Amino acid sequence: MAGIQNLKGLAKAEKYYTDYGTRAKELRAQGNRVIGYISALSPVEILTASGVVPFRLKGNVEEAITKGDAYMETIVCPFVRNVFDSAIKGKFHFIDGMVLPHQCDSLDRTSDIWRDYLNLSYFHFLNVPHVTDEPSIEFMKEILRLFISTIEDFTGNKITVDSLKKAISLHNENRRLMRSLYDLRKSNPPLITGSEMMKVLVAAMGLPVYESIELIKEIIEDVKGRKPLTDGQRKRIMLIGDQIDSVIITDTIEKAGAYLVMDDISIGSKMYWQDVDEDKEPILALAERYLRKLKIPTTFVDTGGTYEENLNARFGHMRKYIEEFNVEGAILFIYKYCDPYGFEVPAIKSYIEAVAVDVLYLEDEYSISSLARMKTRIEAFLEMIA
Ligand code: SF4
Repeated sequence: MAGIQNLKGLAKAEKYYTDYGTRAKELRAQGNRVIGYISALSPVEILTASGVVPFRLKGNVEEAITKGDAYMETIVCPFVRNVFDSAIKGKFHFIDGMVLPHQCDSLDRTSDIWRDYLNLSYFHFLNVPHVTDEPSIEFMKEILRLFISTIEDFTGNKITVDSLKKAISLHNENRRLMRSLYDLRKSNPPLITGSEMMKVLVAAMGLPVYESIELIKEIIEDVKGRKPLTDGQRKRIMLIGDQIDSVIITDTIEKAGAYLVMDDISIGSKMYWQDVDEDKEPILALAERYLRKLKIPTTFVDTGGTYEENLNARFGHMRKYIEEFNVEGAILFIYKYCDPYGFEVPAIKSYIEAVAVDVLYLEDEYSISSLARMKTRIEAFLEMIA
């Protein structure tokens, strides 16, 4: 471990990616509490304000599900089953508890299984609403207050307005820095590859926010000083999906001859593009950020306007990414049995294709088992848009 602390920037991110959880384990051994969470919908600011280490759970696409399926039906999405499989095998033995938000049926309907079989000292189901009107904001504020009271009871630490504001400010700083790092992908060729970026994103989600801030600062300095990576002749691709958290996917895209320059994935831009308003009362600001600003398909956005206006409200950010990052093709990578993302595929595809950017839709497991087939389809897609 002393070795990791001596590393800096991208080398450190690489190590944290490869040995995911190593820093959380060390912090736990030093007497800190570690709380696991799933999904971009979990308000990490509250975990930080309570003094625990937030640790985002991930599975392992290289490991088959061998125990999890004895607890969960196979129509639960493969990502959730794989993460649970890791959990039930004891891979997250260092977490004291976990938070699971109501993102989708795969999480909601399995929440009892997580709670009952992992035997954690703390478990909280965050009953996030799915519409964004005023009553839902009021409901969301109560949901956040309830979460605060349970984590206060568990830790014995009171979350004050000041501690919450400080945590919000830190997470906003973390997001601002991550966006600055993303900016370094706008050049042609980009200064950082999609796989390097994936390692940074995964490393950051396993660290306390103040350590993530320092790591991203070091990486920005590393990357800014680089010469362009290659000749700038490759197609510029955006990856869209839920929790894609393995370089095996990004490597497959980049080794097929593309630059992965942007994403709309839940450990990536979805986590880092929307700040919490620091001028508002913190609970309200958090409710608005997680319910109205976060772009995830499980929140129903209805502007009350035309179909086109509703599409713009739901997917307009993707067109902005396409313009800002000069995206030439998009890969929609959706997990099997993921209804929320699956239902949106036709609308997203036609919305993006309307701005003359081709879209490849892939539906797959959270597993490398079908990698060869996927690679062939990605290569064919890149040839098509060449
Ligand atoms: S991939 Fe889809 S079904 Fe699975 S957790 Fe994410 S939103 Fe839910």
